[in-house]
Amino acid sequence: MSMERTIVLVKPDAIQRGLIGEITTRFEKKGLKLIGLKMMELDDVLLREHYAHLADKPFFESLSNFMRSTPVVAMCWEGVECVNAVRLICGITKAREAEAGSIRGDLAMSVSCNVVHASDSVENAEAEVMRFFNEDELHGYDKTEYAHVYADDELA
Ligand code: UDP
Ligand code: MG
Repeated sequence: MSMERTIVLVKPDAIQRGLIGEITTRFEKKGLKLIGLKMMELDDVLLREHYAHLADKPFFESLSNFMRSTPVVAMCWEGVECVNAVRLICGITKAREAEAGSIRGDLAMSVSCNVVHASDSVENAEAEVMRFFNEDELHGYDKTEYAHVYADDELA
């Protein structure tokens, strides 16, 4: 089983609504390991790269304005097969149809203002870790909790 790293962004609607702690807590309680954390302002260049798959969409400009309306909180989480696990915790894009219990299902109502971003594949997660963090902003340490979060064979 592979140890993965993934990116979560706490989006401007969540910053405005005071949800940084609530969102962070959900990943902590899941048993994930936080290895990078910072507040940052996203510029146009970075957003065009990050949302390249949406560049042709009519909502791209408003999405870009939304993502620049406040700083975001960027997090890098690590765990066994955590890219998919984090997507499940976030819920589907259209928040008002997202599963109850997920972050979007519990905390948001909009397709656009859906409180979090999470990397959607292992490949994209690797690219996003590089996009949002410098190597010296990512921290290695032993998380003693791992002995209780995983079975030995899952960590091998
Ligand atoms: N988005 C939007 N309108 C749409 C689809 C997406 O404003 O019709 C925004 C929304 O904030 C979404 C982001 O664009 O989270 C990225 O879209 P994507 O399809 O990658 O969804 P996600 O991976 O965030 O679930
Ligand atoms: Mg996406």
